[in-house]
Amino acid sequence: MKLYELRSECVGILLREGIERPFYTVDLIISKVLDIERALLVTKGEMEIPAQKCVGILSMTEKRSARVPLSYILGEAEFYGRPFEVGEGCLIPRPETELLVEEMLNACPDASMFADWCTGSGCIGLTLLLENQNLSGYGIDSSQIALNWAVLNTNKYDLNSRFNLILNSDPSVCDIAPGSLDFIVANPPYIPSKEVNGLMSDVKDYEPIEALDGGEDGAKLYRLFFENFPRFLKDGGLMGFETGGDEQAEIIISMAPGNFVLMNRIFDYNGILRHLTWKKN
Ligand code: GLN
Repeated sequence: MKLYELRSECVGILLREGIERPFYTVDLIISKVLDIERALLVTKGEMEIPAQKCVGILSMTEKRSARVPLSYILGEAEFYGRPFEVGEGCLIPRPETELLVEEMLNACPDASMFADWCTGSGCIGLTLLLENQNLSGYGIDSSQIALNWAVLNTNKYDLNSRFNLILNSDPSVCDIAPGSLDFIVANPPYIPSKEVNGLMSDVKDYEPIEALDGGEDGAKLYRLFFENFPRFLKDGGLMGFETGGDEQAEIIISMAPGNFVLMNRIFDYNGILRHLTWKKN
């Protein structure tokens, strides 16, 4: 089969299911399987594609038509300009989370030690390490499956000596020395339980529920954080959390411990209040 025939067959499969951006999606799949840069595909329409590759491309397209997230199909997602390995069991990094990384880099230029709680793929912690050579950190998650992805990405970027991964679901028993951290960053599950069902199928049927569901009001994890994080932080240390948006952010602001001063509110590309930072006095 020629490339242009395969491409139009695949696009047809996605169009029938109403999958958004069908051409772009198919080109990403083809480019990955054939290992040809996407921009060059237009010049290769007449190329004969070996049967085995056709089967692979068609089966990946079928998966996408069943709403499996494209990042899981491709096995990677881009975060802060770098590829991270992702798959079932870890949340797919989202572009708005990059703003939290940027904020912590700017707010803590002299930091040496941090923790990335709910690290998932490790995208936040590893990006911090790649952007600031003086940093070391902990990547903590309650899911062993998610941590396996963090391990893959830590190896990928050769950061084993600076990123210490810990399996933990209860910060009150986490083995991090008191007063040792310059900052703690987290993108916790924050969707109220009753809203999880209303999420698009791509998310709710495939991404791990434990990385999404933040309990009844979505703020379960922040409560746990506020109770436990102060003890890990140095005086003057920072906390930076992603939130579910304006309304939830206000709830979280009202919950913060008295000795923490709200430093910054960061709005995402849609104008939604997405990240909050505090300083320990
Ligand atoms: N830290 C990871 C991310 O931002 C995973 C977050 C999570 O599992 N809730 O993508």
